[in-house]
Amino acid sequence: MQKKLQILLASQNAGKLREIQAILGALPIQIVTPAELGIHLDVAETGSTYTENATLKAHAYAKASGYIALADDSGLEVDALNGAPGLYSARYAPAPNATDADRRAYLLKNLVGKPRPWTARFRAAIAIYLPSGALHYADGTCEGEIIPEEHGTGGFGYDPIFYIPEKECTMAELDEAEKNRISHRARALEKAKKILLGLV
Ligand code: IMP
Repeated sequence: MQKKLQILLASQNAGKLREIQAILGALPIQIVTPAELGIHLDVAETGSTYTENATLKAHAYAKASGYIALADDSGLEVDALNGAPGLYSARYAPAPNATDADRRAYLLKNLVGKPRPWTARFRAAIAIYLPSGALHYADGTCEGEIIPEEHGTGGFGYDPIFYIPEKECTMAELDEAEKNRISHRARALEKAKKILLGLV
């Protein structure tokens, strides 16, 4: 049997890993997680764009493992907050050790008094780093609006307060397969799939 191409997913975020594995699952590639290789890296996200941060993560994991590494950097941009939390979405918090629920509450607190609708979008950038040093990129967005109360239990992060008008529900109310068709990450990964198929 032909050996499958192995790709390391350069992330420690369980929610992201689950989604990326589901979306890439049908490809003739073997997806490897950092936990399976016993690798745990805390890569400083010092880039000034999502693509730069994705590149930093893909590069660090590829160097540590010798594998092709695929990294995602993503975030939520809220227009009424001039694009915040943006690149800082994972670290947007009132206190150290904050949870996703704390971040949602903090975001809503910062929106109090701002006129609605609170239009927003999720953005994802993907970087694929090859051992040769070659880099490939893909990106995707998903438009919606922030709503003041939580709905749904699926997904992760800001999903329960991210309402998608054409679906008439929040990202957290979509079933996993549907989120993986329309999300920013799904759209970026659709483009990444073509790149990966070119490597098989
Ligand atoms: P990073 O890409 O590891 O810097 O983290 C991105 C952060 O953006 C996550 O920790 C979440 O807070 C948020 N985020 C990214 N994608 C999603 C999503 O699909 N749903 C909800 N929140 C997301």
